[in-house]
Amino acid sequence: MPKRATKRGEERTPLDRDCDVLICGASFAGLAVARELAGSGADVLVIDRYDIGERQTSACGIPTTWLHALGLQESLQQTFGELVIHSPHATVRYDLPWTFSTFDYRTLCGLLADQGDFEFETAKVDGRSGSTVHTDRGDIRAKLIVDGLGWRRVLSAGQNIQPPDALLSRGLEVHPFGSGHDLEVWIDRSYVPAGYGWSFPAGNELRIGVGSFDPRFHVREPTVRLANDLHADTVRYQGNWIPHALRDGTEDGIFFVGDSAGHCLPLTAEGIRTALYFGLACGRELRAVIDGRQTRAQALTRYHEFSASHAVPFRWMLRVQRLVPRVAPRVLGPSLRGMGNKRFVDWSFNHYLRIAHPDFAATGGLPARAASRAALAAA
Ligand SMILES: Cc1cc2nc3c(=O)[nH]c(=O)nc-3n(C[C@H](O)[C@H](O)[C@H](O)COP(=O)(O)OP(=O)(O)OC[C@H]3O[C@@H](n4cnc5c(N)ncnc54)[C@H](O)[C@@H]3O)c2cc1C
Repeated sequence: MPKRATKRGEERTPLDRDCDVLICGASFAGLAVARELAGSGADVLVIDRYDIGERQTSACGIPTTWLHALGLQESLQQTFGELVIHSPHATVRYDLPWTFSTFDYRTLCGLLADQGDFEFETAKVDGRSGSTVHTDRGDIRAKLIVDGLGWRRVLSAGQNIQPPDALLSRGLEVHPFGSGHDLEVWIDRSYVPAGYGWSFPAGNELRIGVGSFDPRFHVREPTVRLANDLHADTVRYQGNWIPHALRDGTEDGIFFVGDSAGHCLPLTAEGIRTALYFGLACGRELRAVIDGRQTRAQALTRYHEFSASHAVPFRWMLRVQRLVPRVAPRVLGPSLRGMGNKRFVDWSFNHYLRIAHPDFAATGGLPARAASRAALAAA
């Protein structure tokens, strides 16, 4: 069990106040926004129901260059140059054009938070009226409000569609002690009809799980079975819903970042680097408001358009997500082998990385749209 650092009992004093920027959610998305506001002089408040880094929300796999781009390499646990894909009739090894790494969630969040300059409070967000956010410790008012609260999109003004009807996948994993050399993925209907299983080694721990693109399909039993097949203990469970459709980046004056805006990529369910990427973009727009370079309305428009400008790759990935489960198992093996050609792997994985390229982290001074173009050109 993680040590709970969350404020409890008498420590939970009333929290009625105003601030310039209120960032709700202190995980990848929220902390990336906060990082871009460091030194701005704004009164920035970050809130989360848990302490920073307390609740791991994923298998914590990311293209290694993103860790370097943000100076987070101290959190790195293990690096992989290959991706091993198991299907019922074949196992293939893809030699990747860039490496993938696992990292320690608590360390990464701590490092990212250190790059920011904000006050932090633990509070549960219950909802919002206009520019007042209601929490279990009181109301907080701010001109600039960010929802980095994950798939629930808590600060939305509209009716939220709940699972299993929403466009969400579900994922569950166990974290047994153990070690491994390979980043492994299973595309196998015996585990999940539409989705995949994984084993991500991270130092002295394995992160073994199953994700289903169909929210009605329960993943606990196949997660246990995959762990058993790998002779690993079924301990330290963690799971969540994972969005697989882009949603509006702004709504009713609120900035949505990360899973709350559906920024997690369909097919791979990779949502960390995109949460960081869109978090940086949002933070830069907010920074321009604080510096007097644009109005709040302009920031809302620009961030909304920036997020929406990524719709094409997100739609393509959703198409492939829907296509893969329809491929007959006996065809899947030869197809995966055919796609293992080095030139094709390099081409496809470089395109994939370009959707949220790490160079974006270095283009801080540019307006979001120009920076995106610069990142695409550099890739
Ligand atoms: C099992 C699993 C494995 C995954 N593995 C990977 C992976 O290896 N690589 C990858 O790129 N992606 C992975 N993902 C997806 C990834 O975890 C998400 O896309 C990513 O965490 C999104 O970041 P975020 O900051 O938007 O939201 P989150 O990380 O979900 O953070 C939301 C924050 O808001 C807080 N919060 C929520 N509700 C409230 C509330 N009402 N009041 C106060 N605080 C609240 C939470 O405590 C949390 O800190 C995985 C997902 C799952 C479920």
